[in-house]
Amino acid sequence: DADATLSWAKSDGRARWAFYDPERIASQTTRQLLATTMLPALERGEFVVEYQPLVSLRGGPDDRAPDDDRPDDGAPVGPEDAALCGVEALVRWQHPEFGKLSPDRFIGIAEETGAIVPLGRWVLETACTEGRAWLERFPESELFVSVNLAARQFWDSDVVADVAEILGSTRFPARLLQLELTESAVMGPAGRPLEALHALAAMGVRIAIDDFGTGYSNLAYLSRLPVHVLKLDGSFLEGFQEGAEAVAAVAGPGRYARRQAADEQIVLALVQLAHALGLTVTAEGVESALQADRLRAAGCDTAQGWHFGRAMPAAAIVELLTPRQ
Ligand code: C2E
Ligand code: MG
Ligand code: MG
Ligand code: MG
Repeated sequence: DADATLSWAKSDGRARWAFYDPERIASQTTRQLLATTMLPALERGEFVVEYQPLVSLRGGPDDRAPDDDRPDDGAPVGPEDAALCGVEALVRWQHPEFGKLSPDRFIGIAEETGAIVPLGRWVLETACTEGRAWLERFPESELFVSVNLAARQFWDSDVVADVAEILGSTRFPARLLQLELTESAVMGPAGRPLEALHALAAMGVRIAIDDFGTGYSNLAYLSRLPVHVLKLDGSFLEGFQEGAEAVAAVAGPGRYARRQAADEQIVLALVQLAHALGLTVTAEGVESALQADRLRAAGCDTAQGWHFGRAMPAAAIVELLTPRQ
């Protein structure tokens, strides 16, 4: 079992290494354990997909909840004001010993071992199956489903064939599927990923660039690709927080104001540039009404974050879709 493996590694490490670092060895051993047990765990059904709400920020009556007849007074955007328009599928490992593992613990390992190929395909199939069920139950909802794809799925598998097959078998419409890729996955040398991107877009699937702003951010290059959505990384929002006074007290008011102004200007400029290039913008990591409000004012199209809702089981999405009496 896991504990036995850990203690074995520690005593082995003590015997072999001059620079004995128990934490490093324990975490390496855990990584190895996760790496070798991942595929059997997938077979056993230990992975689950949760869904985080994506909401429309665009003002106007169409974006308000159907039962909400209050006038749009420009008041801060609350979770109840925002219309659910999609969900992002986020995988978790329900580990029998370690409990629910976040993807940050195992996606990197899965990319190294190649397990991301079957795991990613399973997430896609699960999300499309769920998406089809929501569409059947709530035909008006037009809820889109956004699924993360790893670079390795483009290099080591025929991701285009997989997507086509899964859309066919689940009968989930291509127009409601969004695929999220990071800049680094598409910025590499021309070849397989680019061809796949064009083929996916031609199928009617929407392509989003995830964590935009954390990589090289070559918008000129991205605008030449079949990309439809930029997902602005949550780090852009650090400047607009309610804790402004607290931060100013430590950093000095002038510095805080400059940081806030700079972050807001960057978001504003990015939204305008993205729109000029025909892209829509989703803000990630929205944690407060203030941030939601500023983003709406900046013209940001959609948003996602704890302010609107955390990732939740599929059944909880059904509840969100169920009209309240
Ligand atoms: P991501 O695609 O950028 O997903 C957004 C992450 O931000 C999620 O973490 C989400 O729970 C978290 N988040 C959402 N709202 C907030 C907020 O308001 N504040 C903060 N601080 N965080 C927020 P999660 O679920 O732990 O996923 C982490 C990453 O793991 C994802 O980042 C994605 O890169 C990767 N991942 C998750 N599922 C899959 C998958 O099926 N395939 C692949 N290839 N990668 C996946
Ligand atoms: Mg994502
Ligand atoms: Mg993201
Ligand atoms: Mg992110």
